[in-house]
Amino acid sequence: MTTSNQQAALLLERAMLDPRFAAVCERARETAPVGFRDQADAAISEATDLLQQAGQLISDEASRLVTPGELPGWLRLGIIQAFVSWISGGGETCRHNLHPGHPQPIFAALWRPDLTVCGFCLHLFSLAPDSEAAHTCDACGRVCARTADDGITPGMLQIGPLTVQYGACDDCLPATLGRPC
Ligand SMILES: [Zn+2]
Ligand SMILES: [Zn+2]
Repeated sequence: MTTSNQQAALLLERAMLDPRFAAVCERARETAPVGFRDQADAAISEATDLLQQAGQLISDEASRLVTPGELPGWLRLGIIQAFVSWISGGGETCRHNLHPGHPQPIFAALWRPDLTVCGFCLHLFSLAPDSEAAHTCDACGRVCARTADDGITPGMLQIGPLTVQYGACDDCLPATLGRPC
């Protein structure tokens, strides 16, 4: 990630933690051109549906809204960095011409920072189940022992049309985020 994108991510994180952030976002949404706003709303709605459907496959817990302040710093900043990387156009994308000016559901993963893909290209995030990467915590970088009490818990978070996948060890994953059963 470039230094300017890193700075943008830190600024966005600071803004997101401000209680006025939601109101500013809504104001920006209202001032956007109607066509773009409709497309963005549709993309966000579709991304939410996909997240809920995927969540039902991997967890007995329903998806829920979280505030930026509820997230651990590594997860909040990782998601923001993925978002900034996509918005800036500086990151790698799949071959389907993803562009912030044409909102659609898009996906990122903390183990492949700077890569954003469409729903057709989720396989680009695949990890071999027995590989070291599949058992590495995205927060602390520790390779888990692959035992029942020391494994990686997968999760997904959505911000706008962007859904970010992550995997974390028990030490790094707050109980408040819940764990798949
Ligand atoms: Zn694609
Ligand atoms: Zn960890």
